[in-house]
Amino acid sequence: MEEKQLLMIPGPTPVPPAVLRACSKPMINHRGPEFSKLQDECNRGLAACFKTQSDILTLPCCGTGALEAAIVNVLSPGDKVLALVIGSFGDRFAQIAKAFGADVERMDFEWGQAVDVAQVAARLQQDSAKDIKAVLVTHNETSTGVTNDIEAVSKVVRAHGALLLVDSVSGLVALDLHTDEWGLDVVAAASQKAFMVPPGLGFVAMSERAWKANAQAKMPRFYFDLLKAKKIQDEKKQTPWTPSLPQMYGLAEGLRMIEQEGLENCFARHRRLGGAVRAACKAMGLRLLADPKYASNAVTSIFPPEGVTNKQVRSLLLNKYGVVLAGGQGKLADEIFRIGHLGYVCETDVFSALAALAAGLRELGAKVDTAAALDAAHAELWPS
Ligand SMILES: *Cc1c(COP(=O)(O)O)cnc(C)c1O
Repeated sequence: MEEKQLLMIPGPTPVPPAVLRACSKPMINHRGPEFSKLQDECNRGLAACFKTQSDILTLPCCGTGALEAAIVNVLSPGDKVLALVIGSFGDRFAQIAKAFGADVERMDFEWGQAVDVAQVAARLQQDSAKDIKAVLVTHNETSTGVTNDIEAVSKVVRAHGALLLVDSVSGLVALDLHTDEWGLDVVAAASQKAFMVPPGLGFVAMSERAWKANAQAKMPRFYFDLLKAKKIQDEKKQTPWTPSLPQMYGLAEGLRMIEQEGLENCFARHRRLGGAVRAACKAMGLRLLADPKYASNAVTSIFPPEGVTNKQVRSLLLNKYGVVLAGGQGKLADEIFRIGHLGYVCETDVFSALAALAAGLRELGAKVDTAAALDAAHAELWPS
């Protein structure tokens, strides 16, 4: 059955049938009253997910576009920026800042580890002249499967006074994030991860402090001019350019589903899924990349067993079982494979994927105790 696959990659994620149906609604006038209603509805749902009262702008772009919008709307060329890098996406955030002329100082941490907050605090304390204008951090590093403690990072950044820009593209909705309570200045996300919507929308939440910085920010911007987007959103309930209507229809439906499940239940489901993948991998004797203290509940990075390559695992699972796993990224491209377990993913999806993984590894010659792996997963997925 060619079409039926179990898509277990960290984005794009599976899209629920109701969202797909919503995406196929007829086009409307984006300068008409129905659009304003749609935009309002999406904004209400997004505010609940971001846990913020601030403005959220929805842009017709992918996650990288949202990251670019975050950078260019609050910074000027030559501004000193501290980029906290724990994997490929942290690296991308730093590269965008550099491309637009920021003076980027990188703080690199070993892949698989989270940001060492004490080290960040020490660096910021050294900066008594307050040269550092912004700190860039990834909430959930999708390339390694590590979740940073954003609340702790924010405490030390707030004490210094720099802006904190957060990439939560694969974090939001799967993992808890308190934009307002934690004092995050700019938070970027996208439609195709835990929001359960096809790719094509970027979201940027802007705090009061971010808007103050925006008034001074001189990096070039046109398509991603957030002040322009805010003005037309506030005054006319429209967008400056043609919005991605299909994805916005889908978003309204996805947000309704998230509200119906309840955000806290959604986080709990992701904790069960993450816990099951880790427990099963452990029972299969597989080594995980992430420091267990910071292991992500949205994605897991796994080293294949001795004598088996990551490519062999992924092609066998795809071709024989229709289970789609992701490879590694950046310097870990050939080293690890990743299981995405975020968004429209239920317990049985994860249970099936793990069963296929155990079977596949045995076929590739690895010594794997399938029953032990599935028992371990079962205990996490359906705790008695
Ligand atoms: C997916 C992702 C992005 C954005 O990727 P796009 O392909 O541009 O949508 C950015 N950051 C993280 C952490 C991601 O997981």
